[in-house]
Amino acid sequence: MKPVVALLGRPNVGKSTLFNRIIRSRQALVDDFPGVTRDRHYADAQWNDIDFTVIDTGGFLSSDDDYFASQIKEQLTAAADQADVLVFILDGRAGLSPYDRELADFLRRMSKPVFYLVNKIENYKQHDDLAEFYSLGIDHFYEISAEHGIGVGDFLDDLIQTLPEYDQAQDEGETPIRIAIVGRPNVGKSSLANRLFGEQRVVVNEKAGTTRDAIELSVEYKGRQFVLVDTAGIRRKGKVTQKLEKFSILKSLKSLDDCDVALILIDSEEGITDQDITIAGYAEDRGCGAMFLLNKWDLLDKERKNVKKYMEDLRYKSKFLSYAPAMTISALTGQRCHKILDEVVKIHKEYCNRINTGVLNRIIEDAVYRTEPSLYKGKRLKFFYATQVATRPPCFVCFVNFPKAVHFSYERYLLNQLRQMIPLSKTPIKLYFREKT
Ligand code: GDP
Ligand code: GDP
Repeated sequence: MKPVVALLGRPNVGKSTLFNRIIRSRQALVDDFPGVTRDRHYADAQWNDIDFTVIDTGGFLSSDDDYFASQIKEQLTAAADQADVLVFILDGRAGLSPYDRELADFLRRMSKPVFYLVNKIENYKQHDDLAEFYSLGIDHFYEISAEHGIGVGDFLDDLIQTLPEYDQAQDEGETPIRIAIVGRPNVGKSSLANRLFGEQRVVVNEKAGTTRDAIELSVEYKGRQFVLVDTAGIRRKGKVTQKLEKFSILKSLKSLDDCDVALILIDSEEGITDQDITIAGYAEDRGCGAMFLLNKWDLLDKERKNVKKYMEDLRYKSKFLSYAPAMTISALTGQRCHKILDEVVKIHKEYCNRINTGVLNRIIEDAVYRTEPSLYKGKRLKFFYATQVATRPPCFVCFVNFPKAVHFSYERYLLNQLRQMIPLSKTPIKLYFREKT
């Protein structure tokens, strides 16, 4: 879990203004991305590459004064439970109020770090009026103006020092990697599932309310947990009739919705068919990590066992999935199957990768410097800065003066630069262009 910072204070001291300022840069970016919280009172923030979550507790309160006294205790108790660090905001214009004293007394008894901010300080004269706040018995106030951004950076610099360490890598290590196995009927999905997840594994999670067949199998390998998302019931299927074939493919594709890495199984004996490529296209659409497995390699005679030729054929037909590693295997004999999960771990690592903002901007700058984009209506296309707004898969936003003028080929050039330099060679990545205002 990311560390949580709660903003506290009576109504009108500027909590929501400060909240918006803290999350602004990020919120503006993520607004258009589905799946990212839009809850105004609870948002992810980042300062100097440190991630945390901010809660504007005032957002949960009625500003009706009658309610305030009773709600204040609930607010504080809830915040105290949830937050790692508390931020108490006072109003430098309105001066002290009895509630402030109550709050200060409460906070003094807390065992969590508390920051004290006096807001709405925009000039030196106001600074002189702060004496009364010291009567609260607090030694240090940050003087800020949430509206104008004064002093907020200094406060955030100190704030992130007190946040408990949040190790994203460890977060990833603890959550199981979710795998889907997709492919046409009879390519060997259940044989591979048995190979990777064992014949006698217990069903760990029979999801109620979803399809009856949605089961999850888990296995541990080299200290990591892997979960097989099996929507089609590949582990307990009967004979698939011709008529049911389409249906069974659709069902197996549903597992893509819920996975980190898709294993796209192909029957090498039959060669790479259009249907295989269609299935691969779904994995690309979904934006999950992917890997091609050319199965039944044992069935090929010497003459046909030409890996190079097979791979060329595959890459030619599935250009859109160029980042997906490919491997020849035999689920029947187990040939090379032991390498699959190692590769899945590598894909997953890149899939969850978070890139340092400074590094990201250097790469974009260098790329733009080396190959300038063509002029747009006689004007130069300017790249201001870039930032990563999501992982799974990594998603970047680049601020430019004319987003619509970024040519498809230039976008591909930048994507390739990112892939090479970071490196992000085995995961899908997304790049968006936004206008800088
Ligand atoms: P909340 O009720 O604590 O969330 O307070 P708001 O953020 O809604 O702010 C209350 C009022 O104070 C609004 O009219 C803001 O525009 C104003 N305000 C907030 N921060 C500042 C500041 O730094 N300077 C000044 N002058 N006004 C501010
Ligand atoms: P699914 O329909 O995709 O789940 O495919 P199955 O796992 O049921 O396999 C279909 C058939 O192909 C079965 O008869 C398997 O024994 C066979 N099979 C699966 N993998 C291999 C392989 O690597 N080599 C060979 N020779 N046969 C395989």
